[in-house]
Amino acid sequence: ADAEPPLKKLLQAANNGVKSSPKGEAVVYWMRMEDLRISDNRALSRASTQAQKDGMPVVVIFIISPQDYLAHDRSPRRIDFTLRNLKDIKTRLASLHIPLYVTVHTPRRTIPEHIVALLQEWKACHLFGNIEYEFDELRRDIRVCELAKAAGIKVEFMHDRCLVDPGIVLTQGGRVYTVYSPWQRNWLATLNSNLKWIEEAPLPKRNSEDIYSNPTLKALFDVDIPDYVHGFECKDREKMREMWPAGEDAARQMLDRFLHAKARSSQMGPSNPLSEGAEMSDKKSRALVYKDSRDKADKDTTSRISPYLAAGVISARECVRHAMNLQGVKKVQATRDTSLGTWLMEIAWRDFYNHVLAAYPRVSMGRPFQEKYANVIWEMNEEHLQAWKEGRTGVPIVDAGMRQLNTMGWMHNRLRMITSMYLVKDLMIDWRLGERYFIENLVDGDLASNNGGWQWCASTGVDPQPYFRIFNPYSQSEKADPTGEYIRHFVPELRDLRGPDIHKPSEKVAVKLGYPLPLIKHEEARKRALRRYKNPGEE
Ligand code: FAD
Repeated sequence: ADAEPPLKKLLQAANNGVKSSPKGEAVVYWMRMEDLRISDNRALSRASTQAQKDGMPVVVIFIISPQDYLAHDRSPRRIDFTLRNLKDIKTRLASLHIPLYVTVHTPRRTIPEHIVALLQEWKACHLFGNIEYEFDELRRDIRVCELAKAAGIKVEFMHDRCLVDPGIVLTQGGRVYTVYSPWQRNWLATLNSNLKWIEEAPLPKRNSEDIYSNPTLKALFDVDIPDYVHGFECKDREKMREMWPAGEDAARQMLDRFLHAKARSSQMGPSNPLSEGAEMSDKKSRALVYKDSRDKADKDTTSRISPYLAAGVISARECVRHAMNLQGVKKVQATRDTSLGTWLMEIAWRDFYNHVLAAYPRVSMGRPFQEKYANVIWEMNEEHLQAWKEGRTGVPIVDAGMRQLNTMGWMHNRLRMITSMYLVKDLMIDWRLGERYFIENLVDGDLASNNGGWQWCASTGVDPQPYFRIFNPYSQSEKADPTGEYIRHFVPELRDLRGPDIHKPSEKVAVKLGYPLPLIKHEEARKRALRRYKNPGEE
């Protein structure tokens, strides 16, 4: 692990020595961008229990931080999704007499001062939050603990995002794993050794109506949630709202659609995945065909739960509990033996990359995990980068993937791998530029998984694809889109092509259809990548 991962420091600081049950008038839960839900939310649940015990109301705060969004390249789509979820949460909380106070605070460095000042204004004595494992956020929260302590306010931060807390799954020598398979076996054994890991956190209890007789707290109910954050207006807001409806109910429907509804043979979007009822054609649910068809982009067989998991609109624990119910098992069965087991192994990747992020903060600072590749020489080709972003590389499968991202804010996992590998190994463009473009456009953008995915493809990460295994985008295309349906959907210039042409149109066909010619010859690009990775720093 990196020398002093700030997670350790936060956990020490959070136990900040303020005597329990200090005097005050409220207990506060600080909601963040990754825990946008009321149910099965550990910090909110604990805040509510504490408030009941102390005979005080619980208050929820959310701080909109434009400078943070800028620093983290947050997509306007993800921010819009956040605001929409907050509106749903505000209504739900209000029915429990709990205010959700949303405030915009611009200088990110002074967020700790801002929140502690608000706590003092509300005469709050206790602050709860779920831990964010990103480096800047951990350092910010350490500062919050220090300031709160000086103000006599007790602070508790708890793990909530992962199924198993970071720092628990360690090698026999007590080290953090950097290889997925042994980590996953240990992770699964840990999970099954104590099912408390997936226990549901109780819903918050209703505040007493006395809260309305406290004018300061009563006023918090009246503060509206903004429709947008200045500088981050979502251009395709209506489409995003249709495609990715907000709220816990929508998240549950999305999960239910995966676990129970019949899979469709083809449904690429863009449309609201929840409104597709009549056209379902296959006999089995997506969950039951996942193992064999999850890599097929021309089928709609994955869960599409990622925007909801990334924003915490549903907990990973809830996903696992539902999967276990469907399987009729008492232990988590995340193995490749079954279709649902295979899906749970994918959910495990989410934990893995968060564990890596918590132990090796450098990955979130633009550093390759494998330092030996820090000096690989990249092409600075603005034209190629732009063509890749717009889906005009002349490689149909890559263009289809990029256009799916541009229209839906989401991309099929296989396509994320193909498009990123193409940028890095064929165009030889720095993976960080691709990582950034993804996060700027994804509705499910998540630092740990996005960075993990990019570093895997760039062969620079923990347990990466070895540098010499370079995807051939044309054979990948035949595997990922055997019917060509996916390409035809997202690359309409090619919609009349059938057979092998769809994967690799000849020059004559491409010119006739007004489709770009390939930017680069794959075989030559491959040799260049092999050379540069073998000898970092050399041409
Ligand atoms: P399903 O196949 O139904 O999987 C269920 C859930 O498991 C997903 O929602 C996700 O939470 C988790 N999961 C699945 N695969 C992975 C994986 N490889 N790594 C981590 N978690 C996984 N996922 C994000 O949530 N946000 C990102 O920003 C993101 N960026 C990526 C970038 C690259 C280059 C790559 C290769 C992968 C990235 N992924 C990211 C992982 C994965 O592609 C998506 O989670 C998945 O496509 C979401 O679709 P789904 O919900 O239908 O997945």
